[in-house]
Amino acid sequence: MPKPMYRSGSYRKVHRVAPKGKHLVHYERRKGRNPHCALCGKELNGISMNGGKSRRTNSRIFGGVLCANCTARIIKLGSRIEHGDMKLDDISIRDKAYVLQLMAH
Ligand SMILES: [Zn+2]
Repeated sequence: MPKPMYRSGSYRKVHRVAPKGKHLVHYERRKGRNPHCALCGKELNGISMNGGKSRRTNSRIFGGVLCANCTARIIKLGSRIEHGDMKLDDISIRDKAYVLQLMAH
């Protein structure tokens, strides 16, 4: 049985053979995944995990959470609802969370 610290999903098993043919099991940290858009799943642009906080996010609204296309769509929906052209019930429940966040902003 592996040590409790290696039972986490963030470690992967690596099989190695020692010089005398002995079979060894090593554990390696899995590589992290780059940030993705919370709505469409596309990888976020302009973000590098190397460097300071300003390189790990965008300074615009929903930076580091939504991609540019989804942000534009949410802002449009928010504006339409504010001006009474659409109702909050007309948009999908996934978008609604971000529109409400935008309107509270
Ligand atoms: Zn997106």
